Amino acid sequence: MPAPADLRVALSSVPVGADIKLTVRLEAVSEGVLVTAAAAAPVAGECARCLEPVTLSVDVALCELYETGAGPAAMAEDDEDRRFLDADLLDLEPAFRDAMVLALPLAPLCRGDCEGLCPECGIRLAEADPAHDHGGGSDPRWAQLRQLDISEPQGGARAAERQEG
Ligand SMILES: [Zn+2]
Ligand SMILES: [Zn+2]
Repeated sequence: MPAPADLRVALSSVPVGADIKLTVRLEAVSEGVLVTAAAAAPVAGECARCLEPVTLSVDVALCELYETGAGPAAMAEDDEDRRFLDADLLDLEPAFRDAMVLALPLAPLCRGDCEGLCPECGIRLAEADPAHDHGGGSDPRWAQLRQLDISEPQGGARAAERQEG
């Protein structure tokens, strides 16, 4: 089935129209229809550490009872979790969407040991030279600032002048 829109969490989403492999088993029970479904969806995300595009596959399993009877119109407010057969049509998408959003990785990684980005220059450490560093971790611009001597308060020098005069 094609993926519906808005299947996403912060850093990962199922591309709209992506091919989701869905296996559904319907079982008639006394209350309605018991749906057991399994879906495998491709997920496009961004590595939470280095922001590289990541593609992975997410599997979800569903087991939902779709009740026959009064239908959604008669649902009490605290019955939000119950699902009903709507005029004998079984709409699997809301249940699937709920399960899928929960299954999407909140912080996908391009690989388990992703080193992320250099905190100094933002380069991907995986692509950088293994010896990549910035000379003790200091930016040259900050090094210049450090040469300014701010340890001696100027008030001390002025006080000395006054004593002389
Ligand atoms: Zn990464
Ligand atoms: Zn760097």
